[in-house]
Amino acid sequence: MRTEPASTAPALLSELERLCPGGVFQGVPLAQISRWRIGGPADLVLRPGSIEELAALRAFFHREGLPHLVIGATTNLLFSDAGLRPACIQIDQRMAGIEAVSQTEIDAQAGAWAPRVARVAMQMGLTGAEHVCGIPGTIGGLVCMNGGSQRKGIGSALVEAVTVDETGAIGIRRPEDCGFAYRRSVFQDNGEVVAAARLRFEPVEEAGRTRSEVRREMLRIMADRRRKFPQKEPNCGSVFKSNPAMYDDIGPPGAAIEKLGFKGRRIGGALCSPHHANFVVNTGAATAHDTLALITEIRDAVLASTGYEMEVEARYVAQDGSFHPALLPAEA
Ligand SMILES: Cc1cc2nc3c(=O)[nH]c(=O)nc-3n(C[C@H](O)[C@H](O)[C@H](O)COP(=O)(O)OP(=O)(O)OC[C@H]3O[C@@H](n4cnc5c(N)ncnc54)[C@H](O)[C@@H]3O)c2cc1C
Repeated sequence: MRTEPASTAPALLSELERLCPGGVFQGVPLAQISRWRIGGPADLVLRPGSIEELAALRAFFHREGLPHLVIGATTNLLFSDAGLRPACIQIDQRMAGIEAVSQTEIDAQAGAWAPRVARVAMQMGLTGAEHVCGIPGTIGGLVCMNGGSQRKGIGSALVEAVTVDETGAIGIRRPEDCGFAYRRSVFQDNGEVVAAARLRFEPVEEAGRTRSEVRREMLRIMADRRRKFPQKEPNCGSVFKSNPAMYDDIGPPGAAIEKLGFKGRRIGGALCSPHHANFVVNTGAATAHDTLALITEIRDAVLASTGYEMEVEARYVAQDGSFHPALLPAEA
């Protein structure tokens, strides 16, 4: 496989424009488009408008032996200060259809905004999607991360996922193929991209609830999140995953970090949020290196003090497009 960037050669660009019309962008500053507002330039960002375009792009890169990576809304990602050399397929609003396919099932394209899917479910008189109503990512990213809140993960609502493998072949994955575990799925490692997800939720009457109760619960969850989480400075949500044994013993990561006096600890522009210790925020000019150094310092201090090695949820994207836990000594 060639490792040089999917260069900006005119022939390559015109082929990509043919495969992904209106979705080819060069020299995109990741510090402007990423959620953490950190990262150098991405040489090439491709935003497919359909599953077929996504499959055609992957097939093309496979044929040409060109590396590429796939991202969603970047709400769980820290990009390298050097930016990204391989082509980056970003599945976003251009591929965000949501459709009710039965009284209990919703088809969402991978770029659909997770809170919007939760709202559609509530409007259909369904319950079970409330826990994702405040998670600011795409359905594709949510399935890949098995994201959720209140000790739930989206995997439990998945009926099937439409996937595109590295060769561009479109397939179907059932939940039992997806390796769902706490904030884990096979899509973090197997090279497949989630193109769409069919999700099933429960009718409110069967759960002994009403639609307005579900609506009120969603409003409460969103108000709680606004109160608990930092709102102003860019961040990627919880940096560390919760660990049940550590939780029972000393509490969630935020409590352990706070106890060690980290709230307000700063490295360069990266700050351990005074609002919630499990958030590292960008105060304006944070670099990926500042952020990795602070996360690593926190992880090491909690390990030394409690014996628990907290697992990092945020993923670092190196300039070669590889994904790593957001810790030093990854390249920054
Ligand atoms: C303020 C805030 C609060 C948050 N709260 C929560 C929370 O309560 N619970 C929670 O679980 N998460 C939370 N997160 C983290 C994040 O929102 C979720 O992990 C989200 O599901 C990521 O979606 P994304 O589209 O942004 O994916 P990205 O961050 O772009 O990508 C994350 C990973 O998914 C992969 N990926 C993206 N799209 C696809 C696809 N279509 N197919 C295959 N792989 C794909 C990427 O390669 C990457 O490895 C929070 C983040 C923020 C900023």
